[in-house]
Amino acid sequence: MSGTGVSPRKFLFGMTRSELARIMQELGEPAFRGAQLADAMYRQRIEELTAITTLSKTLRERLTEENWAVGRPRIAQVFRSVDGTERYLVEGQAGADTVETVWMPEGDEGESGDGSEAGDEEVATGRPATAPGVRASLRRNRATLCISSQVGCAVNCQFCLTARLGLQRNLTPGEIAGQAVAVLARQAVEIGRDRVNLVFMGMGEPFLNYENFMAAVRLLVEEIGLSPQRMTVSTSGIVPGIQKFALEPPEVRPKLAISLNAPNNELRSEIMPINRKWPIEALVDAVRAVRLRPRERVTFEYVLLGGVTDRPEHARQVARLVRRTGLPAKVNLIAWNPGPGVPYSTPDPDAVDNFKRSLAGEGIAAYLRRPRGRDIYAACGQLKRTVEQAGPVPLV
Ligand code: SAH
Ligand code: SF4
Repeated sequence: MSGTGVSPRKFLFGMTRSELARIMQELGEPAFRGAQLADAMYRQRIEELTAITTLSKTLRERLTEENWAVGRPRIAQVFRSVDGTERYLVEGQAGADTVETVWMPEGDEGESGDGSEAGDEEVATGRPATAPGVRASLRRNRATLCISSQVGCAVNCQFCLTARLGLQRNLTPGEIAGQAVAVLARQAVEIGRDRVNLVFMGMGEPFLNYENFMAAVRLLVEEIGLSPQRMTVSTSGIVPGIQKFALEPPEVRPKLAISLNAPNNELRSEIMPINRKWPIEALVDAVRAVRLRPRERVTFEYVLLGGVTDRPEHARQVARLVRRTGLPAKVNLIAWNPGPGVPYSTPDPDAVDNFKRSLAGEGIAAYLRRPRGRDIYAACGQLKRTVEQAGPVPLV
């Protein structure tokens, strides 16, 4: 804000405990004040500096005078689907642009069916997390939270609405982790009691914003208390990113999902131009270097494009391809979700069913991801900061 004499605000949200301790020490305060700040922002989910009463009033005033603010991303708009899914437009720390975050109260099934979640079905209540009249003490959330890593995306997959935005900017670690904290606060999630899966499958390609994405994961695990085994990152196949990811320690490494989306290089290059740079073989080699935890599987996502990638011979090719990788793997099928001006069609329900059966028949674990929130443009590949509803659903 040059010319106004006002210095830009500095944000505490997104910093680690030790970075916060250093700032406190620079102000002549003891280092443990940093831990108090971290607890207030990340555990108690306090949004305003003035409300952090573990710090003295004088210190809070001093921080404000020096232009410090919490700066947690803020939910600016909410769209609610008939199926209970909520899509949020979340304002970044600078407040100038928004990203999309999605809350799916009963998960999306695509993330279940995983060995690490055995027993899930018994605890599913089938009740929306925020159902009126359900006392908080009786409620047990079982939800999936989908967060964004970039504003827009540079990868240009032909079937994806987010691609139409192009890449506008990378999100900061605070903006990535902050989407989760803002929604956990809205949904009154209790870490440890509620079962929340987190997927990095919103806008953007996490592995093209690698350092910020991993810094956010560390915050989510170390400060916010989520388990990396309940997190899944999806990549379109950025090989150098997967290679770095393979070196991450298991305590902070989410599970991995690869957007395969086609049965062979020819078709994949057509619908995902990135495949010309890193074809399927290079991709699989990179994935092999990731040391999986016991019972962990790699997910291959496969978007079924009507008449293009949903034929019976494609299913057989996918089965062969997945088997040849030798990896413990499962396939998540996603029926293509439409978007204005995207030249594909939704697959025929019979084709989807046959595809799934065919994979299962070849011994491949295959799950169909239930489309969530299509009426509010919240489903996979529909995130484009749309402010209209697709159907006549009232805003809440
Ligand atoms: N950029 C990352 C993560 C976000 S996309 C990636 O591509 O993996 C999350 C998933 O949605 C990907 O598997 C992608 O292939 C899928 N997807 C994109 N557009 C879609 C659409 N229109 N319908 C269904 N799935 C779509
Ligand atoms: Fe980007 Fe993923 Fe969409 Fe491809 S599918 S354009 S990588 S968000």
